[in-house]
Amino acid sequence: MDDTVVFAEPAEKAVIGALIPSEVTVGQIVRGRILECAPDLALDEAARRMSLARVSSILVVEDDVPVGIWTERDALAIDFDHPDSFSRPIGEVMSAPVRTVTRDLGLQALAIRFRDEHMRHYLVVDEHGRRCGIVTQTDVVLNQGIEHYLKLRKLDSIIKGSLQPLPESARLGEAVGQMRSVGRDAVVVAYDDGEYGILTERDLTRLVAERAGNRAVGALASRPLLTVSEDASLYHVRCMLTDRGVRHVGVLRRDGSLADLVSFADILSGMELAYVHELQHALRERDQALNASQRNLHLAEKVIENSLEGIMITDDKARIISVNPAFTRLTGFRPEEVIGRNPSLLNSGRQGPGFYKDMWVQLSADGQWQGEIWNRRKSGELFPELLTITAIKDRDGTLTNYAAVFSDISQLKENEAHIRHLAYFDPLTGLPNRRLLEDRLQVALAHAHRNRKRAGVLFIDLDRFKRINDSLGHEVGDKLLTEVARRLCACLREDDTVARMGGDEFIVVLSDLTDPDDAAHTATRIIESLRRPVQVDAHELTVTTSIGISIYPDDSRESVELIKNADTAMYRAKDEGRNAFQLYQPAMNARSLEHLALESALHRALARDELRLHFQPLVDIGTQRTVAAEALLRWQHPELGLLPPADFIPLAEESGLIVPIGEWVLHAACQQHARWRAAGHGEMRMLVNISARQFRHDGFTAMVARVIADTGMPAAQLTLELTETMLMEGSEHTIGILHKLRALGVRLALDDFGTGYSSLAYLKRFPIDELKIDRLFIRDIDRNAGDAAIAEAMIKLAHSLGLRVVAEGVETAAQLDILAGHGCDIAQGFHFSQPVDAAQFTLPA
Ligand code: C2E
Ligand code: CA
Ligand code: CA
Repeated sequence: MDDTVVFAEPAEKAVIGALIPSEVTVGQIVRGRILECAPDLALDEAARRMSLARVSSILVVEDDVPVGIWTERDALAIDFDHPDSFSRPIGEVMSAPVRTVTRDLGLQALAIRFRDEHMRHYLVVDEHGRRCGIVTQTDVVLNQGIEHYLKLRKLDSIIKGSLQPLPESARLGEAVGQMRSVGRDAVVVAYDDGEYGILTERDLTRLVAERAGNRAVGALASRPLLTVSEDASLYHVRCMLTDRGVRHVGVLRRDGSLADLVSFADILSGMELAYVHELQHALRERDQALNASQRNLHLAEKVIENSLEGIMITDDKARIISVNPAFTRLTGFRPEEVIGRNPSLLNSGRQGPGFYKDMWVQLSADGQWQGEIWNRRKSGELFPELLTITAIKDRDGTLTNYAAVFSDISQLKENEAHIRHLAYFDPLTGLPNRRLLEDRLQVALAHAHRNRKRAGVLFIDLDRFKRINDSLGHEVGDKLLTEVARRLCACLREDDTVARMGGDEFIVVLSDLTDPDDAAHTATRIIESLRRPVQVDAHELTVTTSIGISIYPDDSRESVELIKNADTAMYRAKDEGRNAFQLYQPAMNARSLEHLALESALHRALARDELRLHFQPLVDIGTQRTVAAEALLRWQHPELGLLPPADFIPLAEESGLIVPIGEWVLHAACQQHARWRAAGHGEMRMLVNISARQFRHDGFTAMVARVIADTGMPAAQLTLELTETMLMEGSEHTIGILHKLRALGVRLALDDFGTGYSSLAYLKRFPIDELKIDRLFIRDIDRNAGDAAIAEAMIKLAHSLGLRVVAEGVETAAQLDILAGHGCDIAQGFHFSQPVDAAQFTLPA
C-alpha cells in the first residue's frame, strides 16, 4: 500500500537521528600541520624537528608520496647504549605503509576503521589526494562528546598499581627497558631526597635529538612530578593535563604515598573503551530498531489491509491518498474512484456546514476528532458511522496526513432499537410488558388525579391455560395467547393499555373512568370475547377467563397496591367459579391477606416457572465417590427471593398444591438425571422427597410411572424418600402402594429416621431399601458418647435388616470418621457440599 510511508517515516528517522545528531567529518577535526621529511633524514634530526614542533609524529615522504610514518612510540625501539643508532636514516625505522582517509569521511566510520585496522594514525587527504593532516585515535575520541563519561569516573578506577619508581642513579637504558616491558610511555624517578620526577616518551624524542648517551635518569627527568588525589574525577584530571600542557600526573593515595602514574593515554584508552562500547551498542540498537520498524510496518500493513473498519488516509490538503479494502466494502467506492479526491464525496447532506466547521476546529486543536456521522454510499444509501479522524504530524510537528477510521454502525443502531423494544414489549404478543405497564399506569394515575377522574386496573388470568399448554404443546399455547392478545386489544379504547405480565396473565389499565361500572362493563366485554372458541391449527379451543378489578382512587392510590388488589380480586373470581370478574373488596383482606397472597402466588409459581431444584451429593464413605444426588426444592419468588422449602411446603400441603408441585419435582429431577446420563453419569442415583399428602393422593403411582416413561428414567436409579409418619398411617393400603412402586423398579428410602416412631421392628413390614438417619442424631456424635452409641446401634440394626444406611447432616471430618468406624455406608451434608443448582453440582470424576 502506498500510504505505508505515513506510518513508517517517523519511526525510522527517529532511530537514525538519535545516533547521528549531525555528522562530524574528519576534515573538521584534523590538525592542519604535518611534519614531513625524506626517508634518508637521520633519526636524531627528525626527533629534533618533532620536539620543536611539539607533534607526536613525522610523515616520511619520497617523491611527494608518503612512504611511512615515525611516531614518539617508535622511540622506544631505540637502543640508547649505542649512540650510532641515532644516526640511522628514518626510512629504516619508520612504520609503513601509511594509511589514508579522505576529509569527508564521517567520524563514525573513521572510529570503526581505527577499531578494525588497529591503527593509531591516519593521513588525511582531500578529494584531490592532497595531504591535509594527520588524524589520531585521540582526536576521534576527544571529539565524541563523551565528557559525561569522564565526569562519572573517578581516577582510582584506572590505577593499575604496578608502579616501579627507578632510583635517580638508574641508567636511561634501564628506563627505556622498563617502558618497553611494562608497556608504559613514562617512568617515575624516586630521588634520594624523597621527591619524585618523571621521564616520558616525549623526553626520549628530545634525548634522541640531543644524542644523549646512557646517563643516569636523575639528571634527565623533570621534577617535581605533578600530582593529584585519587578521589579526583577523570574529567578533572583531563582538564588539568590540558591546562598545564603535560601528559602525565602522579596519583596520591589518601595517606600521601604515590599510588601510580596516570597518562593522557590511560584516560583516553578508558574513553576509547567506553566510546567503542557505546558505538557498538548504538549500532546494534539501530539494527534492531530497523528490524522492528520493518516488522511493525509489515504488521501495520496487514492490520490496515484486514481491518474490518474502513480506513482512509489523506494528505495534508485532505486529498485521499489511500483506502483499505474495508473502505470499499463499506462505501462501495473502489480505491481508483476516490484517490485524489476530497472525502466530502461521501457527505450525506445530513450534517450542516456548522458540524464540519466544529469538526475541523477540534481536529486542529486536539489532533483528533471522534463522533457519529451519516455518510452516503456509492449506491446513494445513507448509513451512520462511528468515525475517528487523526491528524498525523512528522517529527518537526508539520502536518502531513489525516487518517480516518470508521465503522458502519447501522446494525448497532438497529440492535439498539431492537433492545429497546425487547425491554418494553413482550416478544410473543407485541404487547407492552410489565415494565412499560408500570410506566403507563403511573401516567394514567397522574392524569386521573389532575382531571379528578378514576382509573381501573383489570387483572386477567386465563382459566386452565396450563392444561392446553401441557397437552397440546407450547406452540399451540403461544398461538392461543397471540389471539387472546388481539381480542383484548379489540375490546379496549385507544387510550387504554393492555400488557402481558408473563404466562397467561394480562393487565389492562383503563384511564379516564367516570364510573367504576365502566370497568365492570369492559370486563364483561372481555369475558364474552374470550369465551368464543379459538381455532389454532386443527384444534378448536375454548378458554375462560377470570378477572379481578381495582379502582383508583377508591381501592388505593398506589400503582403497586392497585395491581395487588386486582390480583386478589382475580383469585376470588377463580374461587367463586371462574369465567367471571370480581371487583376488589377490602373484606377480602380479612382472610389473612398475606396468606392469601402467598397462596395465590404459589398457585402461579408453577405456571411462572418459579420453582427450582437444588441438588446435594450423597457420598460413599468407603470409596469417597458421589453415588447419588438428592433433589431439594426451592422457590424463586419474584419479590422474596429464593425461598427454602420450609417456607412454602407446609402451605402447599395444606392447600393440596403439593400434588402438582410434587409432580413437577419428580419430572424435573428425572430430566436432570437424563442430562447427567447424557454426560456419562448414569450410575449416579437420584433421590426425590415425597410428601404425605402426595403419597396418599389417588394416582400417585400412576404419576410416578408416567414420569418415568416420559423422561426415560431408569427406575432402578430413582429413589423416593418417604417418612415414618407416612408409613404408619395407612397399613395395608400403604403397603400396597409401596409394592406397586417397587414393581416399577423404583427404590424406597426412609427419610428423617429417628424423628418418628423409631421402631425398627415395623420396618420389616415395608419393602424399604435404604435408611436415612436424621441429622439430629449425627449433630453431636463427635461430642456426645450417648449420641454416638445411638448412631452405632441404628447402623447395626439397619444392617441386620439388610438396609443400606445414609447419615444426614454430616458437617465435619470428625463426624465422618466416627460414622466410618461404625460401618455407615453413605454420608450427606455440608461437609461435602451444600445443596447447589445443577450447574454447580460437582459430578464424580
Ligand atoms: P430433608 O429431606 O431432610 O433434606 C435435607 C435438608 O437438610 C435440606 O434442607 C438440606 O439443605 C439440609 N442439610 C443438608 N446437609 C446439611 C448439613 O450438613 N447441616 C444442616 N444443618 N443441614 C443440612 P432443605 O433443602 O431446606 O430442605 C428441607 C426439607 O424440605 C427437606 O428435608 C424435605 O423434607 C423438604 N423438601 C425439600 N424438597 C422437597 C420436595 O421436593 N418435596 C417435598 N415433599 N419435600 C421437600
Ligand atoms: Ca430428604
Ligand atoms: Ca432428611
